[in-house]
Amino acid sequence: MKMDVIVSLCKRRGFIFQSSEIYGGTGSCWDYGPLGVELKNNIKAAWWRDNVHLRPDMVGQDASILMHPSVWKASGHVDHFTDPMVDCKACQHRFRADKIDETPWVHFCPATKNNKFTIPAGEPCSHCGARRTLCPDCGAGELTPPRQFNLMFKTFMGPVEEDAAVAYLRPETAQGIFVNFDNVLQSMRLKLPFGVAQVGKAFRNEITPGNFIFRSREFEQMEIEFFVNPHDVVDGRPADEVWHDRWIEDRFGWYQRYGVRRENLQIREHDKGELAHYAKRTVDIEYHFPMGWSELEGIANRTDFDLKQHAQWSGKTLTYFDEERKTHVVPYVIEPSAGADRSVLAFLCDAYQEEEVRGEKRVVLRFHRDIAPVKIAVLPLLKKRADIVATGHELRTRLARRWVTVYDDTAAIGRLYRRQDEVGTRYCVTVDVKTVGDREKGETGDQKVTIRERDSMEQIRVPLADLDTVFGRLMGDAGWSEVAAAYPRAEA
Ligand code: ATP
Repeated sequence: MKMDVIVSLCKRRGFIFQSSEIYGGTGSCWDYGPLGVELKNNIKAAWWRDNVHLRPDMVGQDASILMHPSVWKASGHVDHFTDPMVDCKACQHRFRADKIDETPWVHFCPATKNNKFTIPAGEPCSHCGARRTLCPDCGAGELTPPRQFNLMFKTFMGPVEEDAAVAYLRPETAQGIFVNFDNVLQSMRLKLPFGVAQVGKAFRNEITPGNFIFRSREFEQMEIEFFVNPHDVVDGRPADEVWHDRWIEDRFGWYQRYGVRRENLQIREHDKGELAHYAKRTVDIEYHFPMGWSELEGIANRTDFDLKQHAQWSGKTLTYFDEERKTHVVPYVIEPSAGADRSVLAFLCDAYQEEEVRGEKRVVLRFHRDIAPVKIAVLPLLKKRADIVATGHELRTRLARRWVTVYDDTAAIGRLYRRQDEVGTRYCVTVDVKTVGDREKGETGDQKVTIRERDSMEQIRVPLADLDTVFGRLMGDAGWSEVAAAYPRAEA
């Protein structure tokens, strides 16, 4: 599947727009529209519920984006949060040296009278066999040797713009958890092992943002710092290693629990050369995005590096008292760090399906019920009939108290179904003439509506009075066929 199909669906259907589009857009930031914000909120809520509310060993927090500048010196970001950058000497375009072979490249091929070709990322020219050495964009300029470029956004805190007032927009949420380690530990009387979760914005002045919301300069992270006693042993192994494995398994399973297909996920182990100097082991969960396998989440064993650094720079004690051994320890930390925006992209790509129904193309987003931005759409079959419309509105109001429910009467029913399929709405409820009857003829109608299920497109006829129970079961653990079995089928 191509990225531009997803990008255009996102814009057309109100999921994601380019930031400041009417001014030409920024290209490096994105705005979530009415359906996008629901989708992203659902993903963050599922993450929070599973990692904070459902676990006895986790708590949450929300630190500020602007922090004391020393935080970033202690964490190593001021000195080391850099990417290698190269410039084209001809067109001046800049590239990340370590990612330059992940973009298609322009080539003037000597074997074909210098004809211009755009060659897929990382591949040689099929005519002359050459590999890229020049600028991928103009195909002509030489590239400078790599220079290190710091990715943090700098700003000034307070009314003076001078060096002493320099502050940074946080490039990750993690440091807010480390600096609050003692506050959280003491206030919540926690015992190791325990974790702290946080969801929030992060900012990186990426050299080459791109691939839609995959790499932007402002994005959201969902991070966990899970603290472990390094002296503990579990099943004969160091506790930090065991917990690292547990988190990898847990997070790998999490995406699948919400519908991402197993074959589109893989674990990639960082080799020794790639590991940060403080990391004992790091793995990435990768998703098969339209541009190829790429990182969705990183899960690192950061040892005691961060707490020790902050203790040293702040002069404060950041330890845990081990009652059993009667000693202070600096916990090790396992960090599952996921991107909310990359998750949105993965869920969108995975849910997208095109199929043929009665000779017509149907586009459907097969979102998991918890992830779908809209759960129910109420659709009147005849918008000229005031009683049908009124019943539809009443129904929307009633259902919206428990589930995100929309009302739409702006097209004929076939079109309305297609629209709802395209945004992944789980159920459509249609109100028709039979529902309300004909008052002039003294008919009260059957007071039943048709529920249509998105994936099977099956329809059942259900009394209005049953809807709360039926949807309560459908949004819970009951499957469609189980619930549908109790009601007569309606003609599609
Ligand atoms: P990459 O190698 O792709 O730059 P990273 O290894 O620097 O990513 P981390 O520092 O591990 O990323 O950040 C944790 C998570 O935050 C990533 O797995 C990703 O989901 C998300 N993330 C990082 N940078 C960006 C970005 N520029 N735009 C969107 N999400 C991002």
